[in-house]
Amino acid sequence: ILSVQATTIDHDRDGRAVVLLYTDVTADRRLREELTGFAGVVAHDLLNPLTTVEGWTTAAVETLAGSTDPAAVEAGEQLARVSRAAVRMRHLINDLLAYTTARDSAITEVEVDVHAIVADIVVARTDAAQASGGPVPRFRFDTLPWVRADPVLLRQLVDNLIANAIKYTAPGVTPLLEITSRIAGDRTEITIADNGIGIPAGQHDAIFGNFHRAHRSAGYSGTGLGLAICRRIVDRHGGTIAASDNPGGGSRFTFTLATADAGVPLRVSDGFQY
Ligand code: ADP
Repeated sequence: ILSVQATTIDHDRDGRAVVLLYTDVTADRRLREELTGFAGVVAHDLLNPLTTVEGWTTAAVETLAGSTDPAAVEAGEQLARVSRAAVRMRHLINDLLAYTTARDSAITEVEVDVHAIVADIVVARTDAAQASGGPVPRFRFDTLPWVRADPVLLRQLVDNLIANAIKYTAPGVTPLLEITSRIAGDRTEITIADNGIGIPAGQHDAIFGNFHRAHRSAGYSGTGLGLAICRRIVDRHGGTIAASDNPGGGSRFTFTLATADAGVPLRVSDGFQY
């Protein structure tokens, strides 16, 4: 399914031209059909006009950037601000959508390999850090176990926690993340520890609330919904999640989920195909 928008623009020398903006909205339509909550539908509908704002401001910023006219260059800088605001708005809308999905969508619990999910996120986050030119995070983790969970929601949970562990680090410090697990009968505990700026005293529970941000004044960008989404996901699986101080500095997030039948980590040396 394609959405098409047409705009006529004037050229100084070449007369008028028509620009067509095609957007593939197939995946969006499917997602929309799956959303149940009103907030989800509203958030989703905000994405379409926002795509137009992002598309046209980016195009205009590029066009104006090469100009020799100071007024055009200034207009380009103003539009670049609009473009950055649109990106922030997209993050907020995406988080609202994720929150609604975590709250309302049906969950499918299967046996999931936490190790495979973590390994995949580690590659993606390392690539992203390299591409952005920032410090490349370092990860340390043993063979992680299997749990019973919805694979899509589990991935989102772990990715949110890892993204925060990387983000809330002092400037110039290389993020070091340690991911460990403990199996206690039918509950499996996964812990993500970081060497970051830590959580201010008395805020360890509050940070899981909607829009609660503990480091707003320190200049870290965010929506304050990531941990609320994490708590929703864990709640829906009948598990728990909590934040604490990392004894060596930084913070630690621990969540529990149901142990899978294959809960004990399978190692190649045990003779299993892994
Ligand atoms: P945000 O979009 O602000 O990152 P979250 O809901 O993910 O929202 O987190 C809420 C707040 O909890 C953050 O604004 C930050 O103050 C704090 N926080 C989350 N993760 C960490 C962490 N690993 N270390 C220190 N503070 C954290």
